[in-house]
Amino acid sequence: MVMNIRTVAVIGSGTMGAGIAEVAASHGHQVLIYDIAGQAVSQAIESIGQRLDSRVARGKLSGEAREQILARFIPVTDIDALAAADLVIEAASERLDVKKALFAKLAEICQPQTVLTSNTSSISVTAIAADVRHPERVAGLHFFNPAPVMKLVEVVSGLATSPEVADGLCELAVNWGKQPVRCQSTPGFIVNRVARPFYSEAWRALEEQVASPEVIDAALRDGGGFPMGPLELTDMIGQDVNFAVTCSVFNAFWQERRFLPSLVQQELVLAGRLGKKSGKGVYDWGGEKPAVQWLDTVSDSYSPMCVQKKRDGVTEVDDVLLVETQGETAQSLARSLHSPVVVVDRMDGDVAVIAAAASNPHSATQKAIFYLQQQGQRVVQIADYPGLLIWRTVAMIINEALDALQKGVASEKDIDTAMRLGVNYPCGPVAWGERLGWQRLLLLLENLQRHYGEERYRPCSLLRQRALLESSYES
Ligand code: NAD
Repeated sequence: MVMNIRTVAVIGSGTMGAGIAEVAASHGHQVLIYDIAGQAVSQAIESIGQRLDSRVARGKLSGEAREQILARFIPVTDIDALAAADLVIEAASERLDVKKALFAKLAEICQPQTVLTSNTSSISVTAIAADVRHPERVAGLHFFNPAPVMKLVEVVSGLATSPEVADGLCELAVNWGKQPVRCQSTPGFIVNRVARPFYSEAWRALEEQVASPEVIDAALRDGGGFPMGPLELTDMIGQDVNFAVTCSVFNAFWQERRFLPSLVQQELVLAGRLGKKSGKGVYDWGGEKPAVQWLDTVSDSYSPMCVQKKRDGVTEVDDVLLVETQGETAQSLARSLHSPVVVVDRMDGDVAVIAAAASNPHSATQKAIFYLQQQGQRVVQIADYPGLLIWRTVAMIINEALDALQKGVASEKDIDTAMRLGVNYPCGPVAWGERLGWQRLLLLLENLQRHYGEERYRPCSLLRQRALLESSYES
């Protein structure tokens, strides 16, 4: 279905509304902009003008095109004027009562075929549509911030949304230069749900005092390939905003433990340490960011060493076993293997996070460090923590992605696309799981679950099925 959309109405001209209006006008639509606050619309059009100016200055846009785009905006002070729209995109405050009232009014004034969408990031589209006449034309159209820059749009279907409307919105998003993904209206949709463990595992590592914030961030950024560490990212997003999303997903899932908000983050919010915007959050943004203390180069007095691969993920370096993490602590492995053990956590980057068994002789741990440094890795040692930092976080993200997949939130392809484009993950989580190996991921989560005795690390059913299938292909 190609929707015949000429006039677009945007409700709410704040951060998102202004960005979305700019996208629509840049693609030839006449854009009606309405906001409840007096000066908001003129301020939004002014800020759009400034953004377009900077594109003109950079040679990305002609002066003529700038004028044409700006001429397409029609500021509206009376909501009744939105009756002329073929598509409405609501980007007002994130409150169900506000959105329901707006949609009731829209249903009253707009044509029955007008498509009504909300840019909500967390409210149920089904709930927004519930009292609307012709709820089949109501959908979520979730842009990411900044809307003119971010490629991803989640097209969210509520219970009543017609497939034709979702198809039409996907086509429109493509015409606007965006990459749409389709998902069902469930808490957090795709991105805000699957990304939760990226943050929550970092808070947990802080809470358990296993590593400093800069080590946690470096592990995920330089070792995991994420564009930013989780803690610095929460400082950029704003601790209040990130905490509110976590609380909203947690509550929407009836307080499912794996979404449990962090007390450490709550303290930051209560203290007003909101991150970059307030000058202080996890980090002090006024000063130098603390540098990671990589381990000093170990002297080559340990060379030559006898290195033997014992089995998958276990290398013997003289008298010490170097074990790629599978979610057990170094001490429990040292006990069961009757040997000094160093557990390593590494992926594609040049960073190796290690944990040593407390019973190791000093020389055994030093040999393992020397061996890793010889392989060109920057090594950082943290407390003896199951799953360490990188594998544990990535396994939890993949587990969440599979849970969403199994529950029909979105397709495998769309989940991967959403995470690559919405939060710039280095790899879509489902493809990542395929590459890392389902059996190892399952084992890691089972070990974490056993260690903590917590629901939080419960592997989802689809992960078990994929691990089983993988093992049957191998045997
Ligand atoms: P914002 O506070 O910057 O802007 C909201 C605007 O809506 C304000 O100008 C306000 O005056 C106006 N408004 C409030 N009630 C209104 C009403 N009844 N009628 C008309 N206008 C009204 O908020 P935002 O960050 O732009 O968020 C808007 C929506 O987009 C929310 O639903 C939010 O969850 C969602 N969203 C935000 C982001 C983000 O990063 N900020 C990302 C994706 C989605």
